[in-house]
Amino acid sequence: MRIRVLGSGAGGGVPQWNCRCAYCERVRTAPSEVRPRTHTSIAVSADGDRWLICNASPDIHHQIEAFPELLPHDGVRGTSIGAIALTGADLDQILGLLLLREDKSLRVYGTERVRSALHDGLRVLPALANYGGVAWESLTLDMDCSLADRTGAPLGLRCRAFPVAGGPPPYAGHRDQGQLGDTVGLLITDALSGATVAFVPSCGALTDQLTELLSTADCVLFDATLWTDDDITVLGVPGRTGKSMMHMPLAEPGGTLDQLRLPHGRHILIHINNTNPLLVEGGPEQRLAASRGWEVAYDGLELEL
Ligand SMILES: [Zn+2]
Repeated sequence: MRIRVLGSGAGGGVPQWNCRCAYCERVRTAPSEVRPRTHTSIAVSADGDRWLICNASPDIHHQIEAFPELLPHDGVRGTSIGAIALTGADLDQILGLLLLREDKSLRVYGTERVRSALHDGLRVLPALANYGGVAWESLTLDMDCSLADRTGAPLGLRCRAFPVAGGPPPYAGHRDQGQLGDTVGLLITDALSGATVAFVPSCGALTDQLTELLSTADCVLFDATLWTDDDITVLGVPGRTGKSMMHMPLAEPGGTLDQLRLPHGRHILIHINNTNPLLVEGGPEQRLAASRGWEVAYDGLELEL
């Protein structure tokens, strides 16, 4: 199984267009010290030919151009994107669907809660029906689903959506809160080799059940939005704490580095906000994360399991 990190930044990317915080400015002036990052998304393939894209980010055009394996292999028009799977319905996770509207057979996997937000809340699925349309496939929580490509042929991958602490996207926030399936992680298994990768770009809290599931994966890509709960407020942006956005901090007592100790495999931090000091290459935060067994994802990182 091959994995390519298409993007590793949180909402707004790094740098964010309306931000002159210390880290955004360092990307602009010293990109060797703080790398630019597009919105978080990964590509996974069992055969190296057809790819599953996890989350359709607003940067998907740029991400495809940066990874030519996603371009058509044969003929003038086409794509090597076999299917898309979603971990939620927030704009950073789905805006790419609009950008792929030229596609005539886009197959998209997500939970029923995500489908309902996109259909009834954002009305993006009815809008796309006037273009190429989306072939929606609902994922049942905690059940393995064999994935198919755009033609219906097996992708050689299984996908299990598992609930994580989160909520509905802000545009659907008036709906019933606290329902499972608004925010999920994805456990993707190579049907042939059995290799597994867990993709959890957003997580508000750890449970024993989640830790147990992540302990089984050969590779875990996990939410690294914030270093401390108040990364953003200390920069002068009121109200935006990790708790309010349902992202666990990395470095606080009870945070991810403390709580999430995994016995084997590769552990990679992803979905890094532009206010997070973990962005500084070789800085004390990256060294502390490394000492706990965590690598830091970057755009273009490739893994083979
Ligand atoms: Zn910034």
